Amino acid sequence: MSLPQEIDIAILGAGLAGLSITSWLDELAPADASLPRLLLLEAREEDTHDRTWCFWDQVAHPFKDAISHRWPSWQVGNAGEQVEYSDPNHPYAMLSADAMRRSAYSRIAKRNEFTLIRGIKVDAITPQSQSLRITTSQGHLNAKVVIDTRPPPLSALAQLQGVWQVFHGAVVYQPNHGYDLSKARLMDFQTGHNGIHFIYLLPLDENHLLVEWTCFDVDRHSEACKNLLTDKLPWMLASWLDEHLGKGWVVQRSEIGCLPMMPVTPPHLNSRYLSAGIRGGWMRPATGYMFASCQQALPI
Ligand SMILES: Cc1cc2nc3c(=O)[nH]c(=O)nc-3n(C[C@H](O)[C@H](O)[C@H](O)COP(=O)(O)OP(=O)(O)OC[C@H]3O[C@@H](n4cnc5c(N)ncnc54)[C@H](O)[C@@H]3O)c2cc1C
Repeated sequence: MSLPQEIDIAILGAGLAGLSITSWLDELAPADASLPRLLLLEAREEDTHDRTWCFWDQVAHPFKDAISHRWPSWQVGNAGEQVEYSDPNHPYAMLSADAMRRSAYSRIAKRNEFTLIRGIKVDAITPQSQSLRITTSQGHLNAKVVIDTRPPPLSALAQLQGVWQVFHGAVVYQPNHGYDLSKARLMDFQTGHNGIHFIYLLPLDENHLLVEWTCFDVDRHSEACKNLLTDKLPWMLASWLDEHLGKGWVVQRSEIGCLPMMPVTPPHLNSRYLSAGIRGGWMRPATGYMFASCQQALPI
């Protein structure tokens, strides 16, 4: 698809924030409303099923139908002891990235004013008097408003005061694993390691679990942090699975993350330019840290 020369709203990045903003715009506008022309520019050519979003399902959001799991009880544990809390009115919920994207894409498809272009990389934004000029891998365009959800530049991370949450997770197949399907294990602290380490475990059905090993590092660019992601965490997770599930488990999908748990100072160009998502400082250092805040902090 060719790039238009001008657009009303350009959203840079079609991840959680970009697709949430687009879906909210569709949700809030009557079906026959005439909307601003909105263009999403996404660097990825194709989606990968690389993450799930979990959160306490207590905010309004346009993806209720796409939620796959809900856990009315949750636990925090240490050295084999679990503290448990239940509240059926505030279940912990899971939404797969695939399901969320499908929902957002169907909204984009039904609105003539919305367009998504993939495989296009945004390189620079230059303020003009009445618009912003966007330079991309496929040429230039002007937008009246830009909502930028690309990952934040390192300079936006509040002088790097804070830690990175580093994790390696896996959807594991183990027939009759025995974990209670109503309980989400949010943090099961693991002792004997340098710093804070915990296991996060969500039973998906009788035969599948999402299990993640999480820890923290002050410098995501250090050799130690790279080593954590590539070697140590997968190994520690595998050892934990051997110990708690016995032999024979199979990893069906894995996911990794290295997320800034620190204040973000969103870049500022002018009043027509907004930052959103991680770039906009919407991430909070807690479990369910991003999805819910992303539905509440929308800039439009
Ligand atoms: C594996 C994983 C699991 C997570 N689980 C949870 C969870 O359970 N609960 C929770 O609340 N949060 C979770 N998070 C944290 C957070 O919700 C996600 O990182 C979320 O995707 C962040 O949303 P975003 O829109 O800011 O960034 P993204 O979703 O990463 O979107 C940014 C988009 O910008 C695109 N892009 C980048 N550069 C360019 C460019 N130059 N031009 C055009 N496009 C570009 C990217 O391809 C991407 O699609 C998780 C993160 C990861 C990595």
